[in-house]
Formats: sequence, C-alpha cells, structure tokens
Amino acid sequence: MAKPAPRPAKKLKILFAASEAHPLIKTGGLGDVAGALPAALHNLRQDVRLILPAYRAAMLGIGNLKIVSLSLQTDPYPLRLLEGKLPGSGVRVWLVDAPHYFDRDGNPYTGADGHDWPDNAARFATFARAVSAVALDQAGLRWRPDVVHCNDWQTGLVPALLSLEPARPATVFTIHNLAYQGIFPAADYRSLGLPPQLWAMDGLEFYGQASYIKGGLNYADMLNTVSPTYAEEIRTPAFGCQLDGLLRARAARLTGILNGADYAEWDPATDPHLPQHYSANALQGKAANKSALQQELGLPRAAEVPLIGFVGRLVEQKGVDLLLTILPQLLQQEVQVVILGSGNKAFETALAALAVHYPQRCHVKIGFSEALAHRIEAGADLFLMPSRYEPCGLNQIYSLRYGTLPLVRRTGGLADTVQDWSEGTDRATGFVFDEATPRALLDTLLRALKLYGSDRRGWRRVMANAMARDYSWQQSAKAYLELYRLAITHAGAGKAP
Ligand code: ADP
Repeated sequence: MAKPAPRPAKKLKILFAASEAHPLIKTGGLGDVAGALPAALHNLRQDVRLILPAYRAAMLGIGNLKIVSLSLQTDPYPLRLLEGKLPGSGVRVWLVDAPHYFDRDGNPYTGADGHDWPDNAARFATFARAVSAVALDQAGLRWRPDVVHCNDWQTGLVPALLSLEPARPATVFTIHNLAYQGIFPAADYRSLGLPPQLWAMDGLEFYGQASYIKGGLNYADMLNTVSPTYAEEIRTPAFGCQLDGLLRARAARLTGILNGADYAEWDPATDPHLPQHYSANALQGKAANKSALQQELGLPRAAEVPLIGFVGRLVEQKGVDLLLTILPQLLQQEVQVVILGSGNKAFETALAALAVHYPQRCHVKIGFSEALAHRIEAGADLFLMPSRYEPCGLNQIYSLRYGTLPLVRRTGGLADTVQDWSEGTDRATGFVFDEATPRALLDTLLRALKLYGSDRRGWRRVMANAMARDYSWQQSAKAYLELYRLAITHAGAGKAP
C-alpha cells in the first residue's frame, strides 16, 4: 500500500513586530526586512500580521485605516489600534496609535537635531506593552499568534514581558545590529512601572541601567541575526558589544539567516526609479544609467571613467573614516565618486568639503533619497562598503543584481555574499579586503580600477556572475519558518538556556 502523503505543515499565525517597515517608514536595513519578510511569509501562505508604531508617516502611507481596538489598557495615555494593508502586499498591518508618542514628524528614533527622542524609553515600552497585549489576544482582535517575531531593541521588552505569562505564544528575536541596545537610566525603568522581577543581571539590567535589547536576548525562545558570519562574530569580544558572554551562553538558540533582497523593488529590469531598464542579457541600459547619473549630479558625462558609488549611514560602522582618509589620494586618479548618506555631522562636513574641492570627480549628497539610491546602484561601476562590521548589508546584494561590482570588507554578511576577484572569473562577484585600514581599502580599490581599465572582458564576466546571484526572500522566509517552529517547540519549557 502506498504511504500516505505527509500532512502539510500547519499554517502559522505570526505577529511580526518592528519599529520601521518599507515603504511606510525606513531608516535602514531593518525597514527593508520588515517590509519584505512579512510579504514573503504571506506568499508562503502563512497568516502574518505586521505591527508598528503609528508614526505620522506610517498613517499617511496607508491612508485607508480603520480603528479595530480601543481597549488597550497599557498606558496612562489613550491607545488605539488601527488596521490597514502594507502597500504593495496583502499583509495586514496594525498600527499602535499613541499620538503623544508617535504622531510626530521625522525619524522614528531621533528629532530634527539628530539626538534621540528624550522619551524613547517610554515610547518603546508603550509599543512593547501593546504588542504583548495583542500577542495575548487582549486587544479584542480575536486572533492569537503562535509566534511573535521581534526585531532589535525597540521590541526587546516584548519577549521579557511575555515571559511572565503562563500561557504565551513563542518568541523569536532578530538582531539586526547588536551595537544599538536601547540603554536607559534605571530611574526610567522604575517610573515606567516595568516589572521589578525582570531587573536582574540575567534579565534587563546592564551595568546599573536598563537594556531593552537584553529582553530579546535573554527571554526569546530563539534568537537569530541576519547573516551566518555575524552570528559567529557576535559571540566574540571584538563584535559582541559587551553581550558576547550572554550570546555564548545562548549559542544553542542562536542562528544566522541571511537577509534576502526584495527584487520587486530592486531589479534593474523593472526599477521605476531608473531612466532606462537593463538586465544581464541587455546591458546597454546600464551605460545609459551611468550617463544620466553623471548628468543629474553635474559630473562630466564620461563613459570610460570608472564611477564609484557609496550609499549609507555616515557612521564609523560603515568605514566612512577609512573612506575619508583615502579619498584625497583616490581623487588624484581619473575616477568619479558619488556618495549619498547622512549621519555623523563631522563626516558630513568633511565629505561635503571634498566634493567642493573636486567638483569634476566627486559628488556628495547629504540626506536620504530612495530614488537616488536606486540610480546610484544602476549608474555606478563599483559600489563601496568598507564596513568595520556589517550584520548583513543590503546594498552589496542590490549591487550584485545591478551589475555594480561590490568592493567590501570581509565581515558579517559582506563576507557571506561577495567573492573576491582572485577566486577567478568563474566564481568572483566583486572585491574583498581584510584589514580595516585605509591602506587595505586603497590597495583593493586601485586593484579594482586597474582591472576595470585593463581587462574589460574579465570585468564583464564578473558582472555576469554577480547579476546571476539570487538572494530572493523565498529561501530566507523558509528558514524563518523553521526558526518559528523551533521556537514553538521550545516555548513553555521555561526560561531558555
Ligand atoms: P543599515 O541597516 O546598517 O543602515 P543596510 O545595508 O542593511 O544598512 O541597509 C541600508 C538600507 O538603507 C539600504 O536599502 C540603503 O539603500 C538604504 N539607505 C541608507 N542610507 C540611505 C540614504 N541616505 N538614502 C537612501 N537610502 C539609504
């Protein structure tokens, strides 16, 4: 008798909690992931709901919102839950509407002056309490998740609060960047009425202060980070941000899952931000994008001059100091350098000054522009990511698809996604260097420029390898489903080792 077919795995109910999600609001990679992973899970026929703070931009971005809950008893201020759809996907979104905390212009984490909002401890405690209430089906929604997927410190209190509940869903916590921890004075912890029993070294306390990320790291049933290499690195003192001991202790529950790229947004064959589309089989359009970018930014329209791009936060993590050190020397060469980013004021000023000094070779745009980021990906020949550490990094993955060879430092997700030219034109997809020094960066750049000038056929071969790489979310979403199942298995077994 034929064996019965295996029963299809049960559809999971997943509450996905994050502090940003593209296209509603985004400051970096977390926004890309929270916009794309729920949609990929939805495509795998899972019942996934995204929960975000009701920032002004998020409410405007959804538009057609309805009030679904008025009964969140979590805060002295009135709290409502609004419901809509994530634009471009069928994913249901709940917005935690606490106008006092979230209905503001600007960045989710910082005011116009670039400083953290002074009430961040309260804002993300309120958000976490609302997520926990929804997770326990206490918000009148008649929906109870199997698993709550939390992301970064802004949601770190959720696994901690849920750990106090006798009947709770499983919890997963993803580290998108261990350096951002949500550290607040002990006085805030007390005044916010957070549970005293969680104030402990193996709880939320961190050298006398409250650490929201420790809520995720200590109490989630499963932990992961966004690349296999970063999952290894953060267990060492050099990358562990003083949490490596904790992460070593929980190593059995910690994995790495590489982020995917959302090719619905990032594909030169369809990208609406580009003046001309192109693909691996029809590359002519890439030259047209380069020329259009040069024109847009006021650089000479020179097809043969290598164009080097950089897009990202202007902070030490991204190796901006290395870049600044070598730029005066690099700009002696026949090159064009285009930089888009914002962050550290000193870096912004120094870069802008270089652009003034070399108007024919260097263009610097301080600010955030989704459209220009796409056009730089398409118009550049080389894309720089000299990061000191990089949990995953998305721009190098986009660069691969755009045939813009990434030049990266061998760390975290960069090490997992780019193969150096020295591996041969059958395998190579870009350029990789090891030491976080200006010398190593410059040497590798000069090596790349030499090849660009002398071996265009080889360059094209490597472009073809890069463009053939497939980092679509489908694979990663399946890995997350496995992780959710593991978390469900472990949940209820008490505080995890
Ligand atoms: P991180 O999350 O550390 O900032 P990632 O490489 O994971 O870095 O993701 C960064 C994302 O944010 C990419 O989609 C990138 O294009 C985008 N981004 C960063 N800075 C800017 C900017 N100034 N303008 C437009 N997009 C930006």
